[in-house]
Amino acid sequence: MCTASDSYLAQVGQPPVLAARAPGRVEFIGNHTDYNGGLVLGAAVDRYLSVALGPGREPGVRVRSVDHGLPVSFAPGAVPSGSWAAYPAGVVAVLAERTDIPPCELVFASDLPVGAGLSSSAAIETATACALDAWLGLGMSRADLARACRRAENEHVGVPCGILDQAVVTFGRQGHLVRVDAAAEVFETIPVPGETRLWIFDSGVRHRLTDGHYAARHRECGEAFAVLSADRRDLPGLAHIDPDAVEAARGRLSDAAWRRARHVTTEHRRVQNVIRLLGLGRLKEAGAELFASHRSSRDDFANSTPELDLLVDRLSQEPSVFGARLTGGGFGGAVLAWTDPSFGVREADAVCRLFETRYGRRPSVLACRASDGVGLVS
Ligand code: ADP
Ligand code: MG
Repeated sequence: MCTASDSYLAQVGQPPVLAARAPGRVEFIGNHTDYNGGLVLGAAVDRYLSVALGPGREPGVRVRSVDHGLPVSFAPGAVPSGSWAAYPAGVVAVLAERTDIPPCELVFASDLPVGAGLSSSAAIETATACALDAWLGLGMSRADLARACRRAENEHVGVPCGILDQAVVTFGRQGHLVRVDAAAEVFETIPVPGETRLWIFDSGVRHRLTDGHYAARHRECGEAFAVLSADRRDLPGLAHIDPDAVEAARGRLSDAAWRRARHVTTEHRRVQNVIRLLGLGRLKEAGAELFASHRSSRDDFANSTPELDLLVDRLSQEPSVFGARLTGGGFGGAVLAWTDPSFGVREADAVCRLFETRYGRRPSVLACRASDGVGLVS
C-alpha cells in the first residue's frame, strides 16, 4: 500500500504535519446482540486505512483518497451527499460543533476492503477524528472519539448504525478482544491467551434482501421484548432476559419471535462465557461457543446462508480451528475462523477448494491478527 503520507507529499507538494491510521474490525462473537442491549466481543484487525493531514492554502477542508479520484472540498459543517467524502465531512461537522476547523488537507490511503464486513467506514471516520484531535489539541478520550464518529455516520452519512464498529476500531489492542456493552457504552479489552489468528472467509454473497430481513429481525426482537419485559421495564433490552423465561413464554410468542429471543438471550450468555473461558485459558471451550453461536444464528436467528454453513462445517473439521461462525449481519458476508498458528495457507486452501467444488468460485480469504486501534503514526 502507498502510505497516506507519501501520497500527501505527491499530491500537496509538501509533507503532512501528522498522520493517523485506523484498523478494520471483526465481530468475534455477539451476533445481533448490540441493539438488544447485550454484549459483543470484537477485534481490530491488522488491515488499515491511514490519513495524512496538513494546513490548507484555501478556505475549507479538502479531502482526497488514493482510491477515489478527484479531491472534494467542503466548508466545515457542510457534508457532500452521495460521496465518500461524507464520512470525513461528517466527522468534521461533529467536531466543528466544539471548535473552529482551520483550512486543512486530508489524504487517505487504505488496504481495507470496502463493504467486506471489516467496517472501512468506521476506519475512515476514526482516522479522521484521531488526526484532527491531535492537530487541534482537542484532548478527546477514546470513548468520546468513538461517539463522535458514530454521530457522524448516523447524522451526517445517514446510516443508523450502533456504536459497535467505532468502539472496536477505537479501543482495539494487539492480542486482545474488545468487549462492547452497547447499552451502557462501556468498552474494555480482554486478552486472548497464546498466539491466535483470525481468518476471514468472505462467501462473496452480498446481503440477500438485507433491508427487509433486518427490519423483520428488529421487529421480531421488539415483539419478544415487549412480551417478556412486561413487568421488567428496567431492563436495557432483550439480551438481559433469562433464556428460561423465553422457554416459559413460548406459548405467548409467535414462533419467529420466540426463536429470535432464544438466539439473542443465549448469545449474550455465550459472550459472557467466552470472556470467562478466555480468562481461564480454556481456548477450545471458548471456541466451542463460537460454533454454538453459528448454529444459533443459523437455526434460530435464520440469518445464515448455505455458503456460510458450508464454510463453518468444513472449518469445524480442522483440529487447529478453535471456533468458526458467521460474522456481522449475516444473510451473506463472511465467516470468521479463530485458529491456532498451525492453521495456515494449506488448510485455508483446502476449505476454499471444497467451496469451489460446490459453488464454482473461491471465497476471498484474509489472515489477520488482533491489532491496536486507531492512533497516530510517525
Ligand atoms: P464497510 O462495511 O466497509 O464499513 P460501508 O458501506 O459502511 O462498508 O462503508 C464503506 C464506504 O466508506 C465506502 O463506500 C466509502 O464511501 C468509504 N470509504 C471506505 N474506505 C475508503 C477509502 N479508502 N477512501 C475513500 N472512501 C472510503
Ligand atoms: Mg460500515
